[in-house]
Amino acid sequence: MSYDVERIRADFPILKEKVRGKRLAYLDNAATTQKPRAVIEAITRYYETSNANVHRAVHELAERATTQYEGARDRIAKFFNAQREEVVFTRGSTEAINLVAYSFLRPRLKEGDEILLTGMEHHSNIVPWQLIAAQCGAKVIAAPVLEDGSLDFDGWRARLNERTRFVAVVHVSNTLGTINPVTEIIAEAKQRDIPVLVDGAQAVAHLKVDFAALGADFYTLSAHKLYGPTGFGCLMGKRARLDAMPPWHGGGDMIRTVSFEGSTWAEPPYRFEAGTPDMAGAIGLAAALDYVEGIGLGAIAVHEHSLLLEATHALQDIPGLQLIGTAEGKGGILSFVIQGANAQDVGSLLDQQGVAVRTGHHCTMPLMARFGISATIRASLACYNSQEDVMQLHSALIKSTRLLRM
Ligand code: PMP
Repeated sequence: MSYDVERIRADFPILKEKVRGKRLAYLDNAATTQKPRAVIEAITRYYETSNANVHRAVHELAERATTQYEGARDRIAKFFNAQREEVVFTRGSTEAINLVAYSFLRPRLKEGDEILLTGMEHHSNIVPWQLIAAQCGAKVIAAPVLEDGSLDFDGWRARLNERTRFVAVVHVSNTLGTINPVTEIIAEAKQRDIPVLVDGAQAVAHLKVDFAALGADFYTLSAHKLYGPTGFGCLMGKRARLDAMPPWHGGGDMIRTVSFEGSTWAEPPYRFEAGTPDMAGAIGLAAALDYVEGIGLGAIAVHEHSLLLEATHALQDIPGLQLIGTAEGKGGILSFVIQGANAQDVGSLLDQQGVAVRTGHHCTMPLMARFGISATIRASLACYNSQEDVMQLHSALIKSTRLLRM
């Protein structure tokens, strides 16, 4: 069956919006994806028919809410081939990484220990480690990035040593599109018994992730980059790891018993889910996974790859344009700079022509420093992008560069 992008576009109501009076070419998918009607309706249906607080009541609506909320956990676990006890609900990747930093690593971290990252991490996979490292006298080490935006794997390996207590790595770079060799990284770390966290925020909408097969100790994701709602995500953690972790946030739902003499904790995943959860978030993510599965991640990846090739080719005739990140096999992200043009100015001119891209450091300031730049213009692809979007980007760039050179 051929990929019917127009049919897919019709599933996303927002894509019909005019912006600045122009057809919308939404190319800011690495920041957040748009939501298909199926996700919007699942969330609305939940509020219209089933809303109540989960877990702690006997009435019918609470039962419906709990069934749907826990059903969403089953759905998410199945999609990623994890056990349901391994799926902890969080507000997104950022919170998931912080949870691991504070609950797993901080109690284990000693003076002189090292946390090994890469030079292309998002700030949310740098700063939490810096915060706990500073508290414990440990060090954050970053493996170098090569000129094409791929990881210097030998450089990474050379930094793995007897002081390395933890490895964290981004699966797909949000700035470069680079897909990191996570299987090899996990294998190397495992040989030395070093736990690994993979930041999957940019991967899960584009690559099939099998948590059991991958073998990472922790894997994080954000629903909003996967056609789901904002403010919701998951930490997937190996059962033995989660079992050994103390609570992080305290409150309702994460306890077994509470007394002033001392409290005891619920089993994972509930141990890490204090307070009333985001029921609609979980249900929305489950609906998003159904939607993605309906198209097929493999088909989406093929489509995005062919658009990436087209866009890469089209950008070649923009005067002064230089791509940042050209690693082999990279995902659907085009980051670039244009000689003599300020990224922000280009972004604003593109916006005037209906093209939504992101400009700036993309929360990867160390990576910007590595390339000696302060910002890029970034176009990022999703399942609903079409050749028309790529052509609109191309003609808008031609016009913008002309205007800026006047
Ligand atoms: N990691 C990467 C690679 C990202 O792109 C992002 C979001 N830009 C995050 C982590 C953080 O995700 P969130 O803001 O949804 O927590």
